[in-house]
This record gives sequence, structure tokens and C-alpha cells, in this order.
Amino acid sequence: MFDNIGGKLKTVAQVSTVIGMLASLVIGVTLAVLGMVPTGLIIAGVGCVCSWLASLTMYGLGELIDETARNREVNEKILACLTGAQPAASTAESAASTAESAAAPIAATQPPDTPVAPVSLPKKRLEDLVWRCSKCSSLNDVALTACRFCKKSRE
Ligand SMILES: [Zn+2]
Repeated sequence: MFDNIGGKLKTVAQVSTVIGMLASLVIGVTLAVLGMVPTGLIIAGVGCVCSWLASLTMYGLGELIDETARNREVNEKILACLTGAQPAASTAESAASTAESAAAPIAATQPPDTPVAPVSLPKKRLEDLVWRCSKCSSLNDVALTACRFCKKSRE
């Protein structure tokens, strides 16, 4: 129910803007038909502008949440590349714990006697994990064939 909350907020913002504009237009036109032309025009105009303005905050918040989720996902993948570890199973981990695991020295996970491989190279390169959308520049999982945000297909 609360998955993809950023996307839902943006959808709600768009829908409520359209509804608000339509309601303003209907009321304005009705008043104009009833003979109150100036009042009707003002209500239609002001109503449309107010509907749009009211949606900006909600849409912006949705965009912010989307962007944060995107960043967290990319961070986890970068982290996984750097440490050679698998991405954390829980994507709900806080940024604090992510930072904590980033700060943990990689060598500490290896017993002292184990001959250390020349360099603990990342098991996967970043390009093998994500691809960048050519339209909106978002990073997407390689499992996706189309951009999560603008739905443009991968080229
Ligand atoms: Zn895109």
C-alpha cells in the first residue's frame, strides 16, 4: 500500500490538479451561463492557478522521495561493488547503517592468516549492475528493460 510512495504522491498531485481545474472551469462556466460572466471567468482562472499551485508541493515531495529511493539503491550497488558483497537484502535499511558498513574496513572481514588476494576486486562492475537512461539519466537495475521513471526502453 505504501510502496512507491513518491510515485503515488505525484500521481495524486496530478489527478487532484486536473480535478481542481475541471471543477473551477465547470463552476466558472456555470456562473457565466447564468449571467455572471466576469465572476465566472475569475473563478475559472483563479481556480485553475490555485489547483496547480497546490499540487506543486505534493509533486515536489513525491519527486524528492523518488530521488532519495533512487540514490539509496545506487548507493547500495556502489557499496556492493566496492566491497564485493551482495547488496543488502533489506532496502529499508537506514542511511546510518549503510554508512556504518561502508566505514567497516574490508580487511577486517578476513581472518589474519588467510592469504589475501592481490586486490579484492569488485565482483561486478557498476555497468553490469545498472544502466543509465538516455532520456532522464536515471540509473536502473539491469533486470529492467525500461526506465523505472520515464518508461523509456533501454537502448
Ligand atoms: Zn528514464
